[in-house]
Amino acid sequence: MDQFDPGAVVVKSGHFIGGSLVDEGASHLDVARPSDGVAYASVPVAHAQMVDRAVENASHAFRESGWARIAPRERARILRRFADLIAADTATLAPLEALGSTRPVRDVSAWDVPFTAEGIRFYAEFADKVGGEVAATDHDHLGMTIAEPYGVVGAIAPWNFPLVMASWKIAPALAAGNAVVLKPSEMTPFSVLRLAELAIEAGIPPGIFNVVQGDGANTGDALVRHPRVAKVTFTGSTRAGAAIMAACAQSGTKPVTLELGGKSPQIVFADAPRLDEVARRIAGAITGNAGQVCVAGSRLLVERTIADDLVSRIAQAFTALRAGATWAPGTTLPPIISEAQAARIESIVERSVAEGARAYCGGRRADASVPGAFYQPTILTGVTSETEAVRAEIFGPVLTVQTFETEEEALALASHPDYGLAAGVHTADLGRALRFVRALESGTVWVNRYGRTSDFMIPTGGYKRSGIGKDLGRQGYEAHLRFKSVLIDTRI
Ligand code: NAD
Repeated sequence: MDQFDPGAVVVKSGHFIGGSLVDEGASHLDVARPSDGVAYASVPVAHAQMVDRAVENASHAFRESGWARIAPRERARILRRFADLIAADTATLAPLEALGSTRPVRDVSAWDVPFTAEGIRFYAEFADKVGGEVAATDHDHLGMTIAEPYGVVGAIAPWNFPLVMASWKIAPALAAGNAVVLKPSEMTPFSVLRLAELAIEAGIPPGIFNVVQGDGANTGDALVRHPRVAKVTFTGSTRAGAAIMAACAQSGTKPVTLELGGKSPQIVFADAPRLDEVARRIAGAITGNAGQVCVAGSRLLVERTIADDLVSRIAQAFTALRAGATWAPGTTLPPIISEAQAARIESIVERSVAEGARAYCGGRRADASVPGAFYQPTILTGVTSETEAVRAEIFGPVLTVQTFETEEEALALASHPDYGLAAGVHTADLGRALRFVRALESGTVWVNRYGRTSDFMIPTGGYKRSGIGKDLGRQGYEAHLRFKSVLIDTRI
């Protein structure tokens, strides 16, 4: 699908609790379409009582529905059916996702929806593969660990890839036998409600997958602190992650997975093969989803001898992008999620220019006659490691450029005081690439590429203040299990 009529999309609102949509709340939030700023629906805000209702439903379903106790292969079969229903629902899900988010519908159809379904299939395959292990003990004892679900998992998701991010949170939790209460971002609350409906159709017992709507300060905080929430998994900003970690500590020392922000370097050496291709890669890594990607390659570190050439090729690659609504055909540069976020990008760039940066291209909002908050792909040169645009996670299509002459200089520039989410190294020298793989303080290092493949076994997660724990891979599954140690004396 590469276009749709935004006025024709049917939007259901509410929380999803115990298998039904519940459109109740003491207050409501208006939700706007990023593509044109039009408020198209509202969503109820779950205050503590509604969060309690959702968590109690989840807890009851965890104890009574048998989800944690059925044969793991049966749980896997239901999850595979869930994934198949999601994939078959593209015609409904894709416009719903694109309408309220920054994801062009063509990308949602071709990538987000299939990737969401495949993530659920991937974790379904784990359901009967991790059960614990038998320990090496003396012959008079039998020692083992038994993998058990936590119970109720509180999951909180961001707005930048609403379906995919939600699937990374719910899939391992459900496959491991937990019940889930998910809070999506208040800016993109609707598409996950469709997932919840499909979960019921697939045979997941009512109450095992619930959705509560609302903001972070009220709903998110109440969810994290609920005494029956035994594990928290969060994707979002480093600021909110720190608040959530504190809330987890204060409300039961709960284990927490945190997938947080980044300011990821792209290090290009003069020997990097095929400079045009490198330029396209760098351009794609900062303009994909208009830079609203946790692993956006937002800091270009380039060997001085090729800097001018590479920067001009990146700027050239930017010219191929077409700003447009998520429902318009041919959109390759989507909008910024909100007016407030676009204003934040604008002010960071303005302050950085006042500090001495130079806008090589872009540096401002798109034409004011275009509805929606579009920001031009921007390259800032003349920056230092102290410039605000180099330090702050901008979450927009803004690339800063710094040059180096030696490997040591490149490594020093690559190291960010706070973030360590991802890094790219582009070089033909294998030894150098491996030296950087070892030396970079980063949860992911890509060599001569930038971005994930569809290999779910490779986990994602940050070093430093970019997070704790991993999503995806075996680690993402085991994070939703706790391990009981058993020791049996066989002489009795
Ligand atoms: P955000 O932190 O503002 O919000 C994320 C979610 O947390 C929302 O649902 C929000 O309502 C909720 N929230 C906010 N404060 C909370 C609190 N105190 N308690 C409980 N819940 C709270 O982030 P965002 O603007 O939605 O998303 C963008 C951020 O997410 C960026 O920093 C980006 O790097 C990060 N992100 C990280 C990854 C990753 O895998 N590391 C992936 C995607 C996005």
